Amino acid sequence: MQVDIQGQIPAYVRNILDVLRQNGKRGYLVGGSLRDLLRGVIPHDFDLTTNATPSEMLEIFKDFRIIPTGLAHGTLTVLSEGKPVEITTHRTDGAYSDSRHPDNVTFTPDLAADLARRDFTVNAMAWSEETGLVDLFGGQADLANGILRAVGDPEKRFCEDALRILRCFRFSSQLDFTVEPETERAASLCASRLGDIAIERIFSELTRTVLGVAPERGFTLMQHAGCLPYIFFDISPDLTRLAALNILPKQAPLRMAALLHRETPEALRHLTRCWHTPNAFSDSMCAYIAALGEMIPESPYEARRFVCRHFPHFEGALLLRAALFGEDIERALLLTQTVLKDGTAVELRRLAVNGKTLQEKVGVRVEKTASLLACLQDLVWQDPAANRRDTLLAAAHHICEKEEWL
Ligand code: ATP
Ligand code: MG
Repeated sequence: MQVDIQGQIPAYVRNILDVLRQNGKRGYLVGGSLRDLLRGVIPHDFDLTTNATPSEMLEIFKDFRIIPTGLAHGTLTVLSEGKPVEITTHRTDGAYSDSRHPDNVTFTPDLAADLARRDFTVNAMAWSEETGLVDLFGGQADLANGILRAVGDPEKRFCEDALRILRCFRFSSQLDFTVEPETERAASLCASRLGDIAIERIFSELTRTVLGVAPERGFTLMQHAGCLPYIFFDISPDLTRLAALNILPKQAPLRMAALLHRETPEALRHLTRCWHTPNAFSDSMCAYIAALGEMIPESPYEARRFVCRHFPHFEGALLLRAALFGEDIERALLLTQTVLKDGTAVELRRLAVNGKTLQEKVGVRVEKTASLLACLQDLVWQDPAANRRDTLLAAAHHICEKEEWL
């Protein structure tokens, strides 16, 4: 695999490498950004590692805007042409007493030691103009073969930091990679260590797994390794329909709804509270699932009703049905788009009358006002031309007399 790394590094990152070199230090491209360049994907950010110590970095980059967060772990974020570049001093991790973070980190001038602390061989390569690719653990071959393999003893690496287990599932989904058998075995052996990991980090890896190109890989691994209870607690996601995931748009609440569609609203609320998800996430996920209980719209009237009841989730809700149950939603999608465009999917607040008017002009009882409004809205969904004050007042009279709501 011959890839022109040098030519693919953007000028704002090369600039940082040049500054390090001019100051007698070495800078290397490393981690996910190098992995992605090697597989022909443009990285979303660039990570560098250097033999400069944190205090040397502060001196070298004193004329740059810097963000010193992470300096205790050797990481400095430098703004180059306004874009952030993370530079981390080569380091080794100390002992892990809590399967979460090293008790201490030790800075080292030794690149090899820094690469050895990294999680997977494909993430443990480095590149500089002077050295070319530094690949001490067979990362390039694993990348070519689509394999995730822990660096060093997999059981030791997973037990010292159980988040790596979830990163393994996440990368297998994002990269569509298999997991080397010893690494996979170690994930099962160390699964119980996931109990030590902060739920926010678990949820973050879960979301990335669900949004990958091969989520069925990630979730199958998760299941085989016995990790599901640490992620979903007492809920069993529906893993019989994993193929549904990657035919859905890359929206986390929608894809998560495909995993959790069998659950009750109460169980879902409980789970999302445990995950500490933002309300917007749980509201959307629950809305997609709630819409599964309804008929697929087959007429303009049903489409107007469906769009209003499930706005803005109506389209995702239809896609979810197609993905989960293979239902034909083509016509329903067309109908919903049409009624949305022509403005006939009238919401309650766009009715030509409101509750107060109905009470004053028609005399509907206060406690029956909401029911009357619902009837009028239904009428307008059936006949959009009826959304006029005089027409609706007349209809309201008629309904109230018939239902004895006066
Ligand atoms: P991406 O940024 O695309 O999610 P990445 O591989 O860059 O993937 P980061 O979380 O940005 O992942 O970490 C950068 C690098 O740091 C990784 O490639 C890996 O070498 C190392 N790394 C990150 N987290 C761990 C960890 N928990 N254990 C060991 N090495 C890690
Ligand atoms: Mg990264």
